[in-house]
Amino acid sequence: MSQIRLDPYLQRYAGRTRGMSASEIRALFAVASRPEVVSLAGGMPDTTALDYDAVAAVFEEVARSFGPTALQYGGGQGLAELRERLVEVMAAEHVPGHADDLVVTTGGQQGLDLLAKLFCDPGDIVLAEGPSYVGALGAFSAYQAEVRHLAMDDQGLVPEAVGDLLAELAVQGKRAKFLYTVPNHHNPAGVSLAPARREQLIELAQRHDLLIIEDNPYGLLDFKGAEHSPLKALDPERVCYVGTLSKIFAPGIRIGWIAAAAPLRDKLVLLKEAADLCQSNLTQYVAERWLATQPWRRQIDEFRELYRARCQSMLEEMASELPAACSWNEPTGGMFVWARLPDGVDSRELLAKALSARVAYVPGGAFYADGSGHRELRLCFSFADAERLREGIRRLAKVVTAEVELIHAVYGGLPPREAGS
Ligand code: PMP
Repeated sequence: MSQIRLDPYLQRYAGRTRGMSASEIRALFAVASRPEVVSLAGGMPDTTALDYDAVAAVFEEVARSFGPTALQYGGGQGLAELRERLVEVMAAEHVPGHADDLVVTTGGQQGLDLLAKLFCDPGDIVLAEGPSYVGALGAFSAYQAEVRHLAMDDQGLVPEAVGDLLAELAVQGKRAKFLYTVPNHHNPAGVSLAPARREQLIELAQRHDLLIIEDNPYGLLDFKGAEHSPLKALDPERVCYVGTLSKIFAPGIRIGWIAAAAPLRDKLVLLKEAADLCQSNLTQYVAERWLATQPWRRQIDEFRELYRARCQSMLEEMASELPAACSWNEPTGGMFVWARLPDGVDSRELLAKALSARVAYVPGGAFYADGSGHRELRLCFSFADAERLREGIRRLAKVVTAEVELIHAVYGGLPPREAGS
């Protein structure tokens, strides 16, 4: 009998591509972007909130004053003038750094990819929060790293979990290549690492000589403007810091950066050049002029206030509409609520019904490398306006309520579990 081969190139792919599959978020985008669907899925900032007269002025200045250079190749490390400005952005959060330590990347995402390429051989162990940012998991899996998740609670990563795993690895004669963490307004968990835990984490890292990757897209999006003390400030050599303008200006310009110790920076520049020669000079100039000439701090305040109000609307609707057995955290910033469905309701299985009811979310499983997260889901409040958010929650609540009733009608309680599930 002839074998059915769906992909004629299957035999040719490198082994490292084996674990790669389209993220659930990408697969969802097609359906979720239909106008009749309220999407609480993709993690998009609201770019309509930008001042487009200001944006146009910046684009015009770049074209008129820097045109030939902006349209030319640039250096692998990134435009020096922009790196100076990015140091100012970091300073707004008390993140220490010098323009020489920075490598400009195509968004924070490329920073994560380059760091994984720099550190990970197949089978290497990487520590990450459970749940963890789906794009980071994708980058780590592309280099065949093995992700070990660490427990979180409403105060963020649990230091005891880090200590226990590091001790366990030491007993086995193994070492983690690094710990990847999003300490501020975590995607997807929506929580921030408590101040005392930051100190504990750094102490543990020092004791076990663990490298830390601190990914911080959301630190400036605290609803009250509260400041978080950066891990990078506690141990600048040990912590590689990944920043991005995506959530505080615009993801479309694809400007991110890594601030790393000098030897790492030099390697990262080589990797960056191998990947794409250099960052787009055009968008680097746009970013530089935006930061140099526009009230970017005020713009961030506007994003913060917009997202705070939307988050509040969504939480109010969740409290009034979702069944009591659901739970969720109350974010203090960022763009996401992380919710838990009643026992027995699987967020991945429920998604088809939710989409039929014209609401989209991301099932929790997308944020774990180990297949957990069945009852959880991520809801994004930054993109849709308050009315649509409320409508989306009402639709979701109907679907969840119907599912809970179905389970009770059929099983009189929880559905029977399959062995091992
Ligand atoms: N890290 C985290 C935690 C994110 O949520 C995102 C964007 N969703 C990124 C990195 C990458 O964003 P970008 O490449 O647009 O900078």
